[in-house]
Amino acid sequence: MVSFDRVAIIGLGLIGSSLTRAITDKGQASSVFGFDGSEAVRAEARDIKGFGAEITDTLEEAVSNADLVIMAVPVGAVGALAEELCPYLKEGAILSDVGSVKKSIIDAVLPHLPETCYFVPGHPVAGTEYSGPKAGFSTLFEGRWCILTPLPNTPRSEVEKVSNLWAGLGSDVEEMDAEHHDIVLAITSHIPHLIAYNIVGTAADLEEVTSSEVIKYSAGGFRDFTRIAASDPVMWRDVFMNNKDAVLEMLGRFTEDLTQLQRHIRRGDAKALEDLFTRTREIRRSIVEAGQETEKPDFGR
Ligand code: NAP
Repeated sequence: MVSFDRVAIIGLGLIGSSLTRAITDKGQASSVFGFDGSEAVRAEARDIKGFGAEITDTLEEAVSNADLVIMAVPVGAVGALAEELCPYLKEGAILSDVGSVKKSIIDAVLPHLPETCYFVPGHPVAGTEYSGPKAGFSTLFEGRWCILTPLPNTPRSEVEKVSNLWAGLGSDVEEMDAEHHDIVLAITSHIPHLIAYNIVGTAADLEEVTSSEVIKYSAGGFRDFTRIAASDPVMWRDVFMNNKDAVLEMLGRFTEDLTQLQRHIRRGDAKALEDLFTRTREIRRSIVEAGQETEKPDFGR
C-alpha cells in the first residue's frame, strides 16, 4: 500500500540512495524525487539503473509539492538544509530525517519549520561502512530497527504515516524521546566507533610493530575493528560534535571499566577476567537470537 503520494529525498549517499530504491521497489510512494547538493553525486545517481527517483537540478523542484521530505545528509548539515528547504514545503507536508543523533537535529530544525508543517525525526539503525549513491541498496532497512523521536505536540496521524512508511520498507519501528535515543546510541554505536577509530589509530602509530605485520596478522581481531574504522569520516565527525554529552558520559563509564580490567590483568585475577568474558559471550548470543546478527561472517554489512 502506498504510504505517501510524493516523496523527496535530499542527500543521495548511502542512506538517501537506499531510501529511493527501497521506497520505489516496495511501492511506498506514487513518485520519488531526489536531490543532492553535489552536482557529481546527482550525475552519478542519474546513471544508476533502478535508482528509484527522478533527480532534480534544484532543491526547490524536489521539495515543492512533496508530501514527505526526508533529509539524508550528515548531521552537521541538517540545520542549514532545513533553513534552505522549509520555505518550499507545501502546507501539511511532513519533514523527516535519518540522522544518527536526534536532540541536536530537533534543535536545529524547529526554528525553520513552518507552522503548517510537521517534523517527525527518524533514525534507521542500519548502515554499512560505504558512502555515496552507488553504495545504497533497497534491502538495507529490512529487519532493522528504525527509531522515531516524535515531538509531543505532533499529531499521532502524522507520526503514524512515517511509521507506516518505514514498516513498509521492512523495518521494525520504535518510538522514544530524543534524549533517550542519544544515550542508547552513544553506547551501542557511537562509543564502538570511537574505540575502533582509536585502536586502528594506535596500531598505525606503533613503533615496535611494522604496518605490514599489522596487516598480515589482522585476522587476530584487528580486522573487525578496521571495518568499523573505515566508516565515513564526515558523518562520524558530526556524530561526535553533536552528541557530546551522552558520548562523554558513556566514555567516562567505559574508561572506569577499562581501568578495572587493567587492574585484573596486573593482579592476575583470572576469575574476574573469565567471568566478564563469559557474560559478554552471552550478550553476543542474545543479539544473534534477536535476529540482529547471524553467525555468518559479515552478515548485514
Ligand atoms: P553519505 O553517503 O556521505 O551521503 C550524504 C550525501 O548528502 C552526500 O552525497 C552529500 O554530498 C550530501 N549533502 C551534504 N550536504 C547536503 C546539503 N546541504 N544538501 C543536499 N545534499 C547534501 O552519508 P550517509 O551515510 O548516507 O549518511 C546520511 C545521514 O544518515 C547522516 O545524518 C547519518 O548520520 C545517517 N545515518 C547513516 C548511517 C550509516 O551507516 N552510514 C546509518 C544510519 C543513519 P557531499 O558529499 O558533496 O557533501
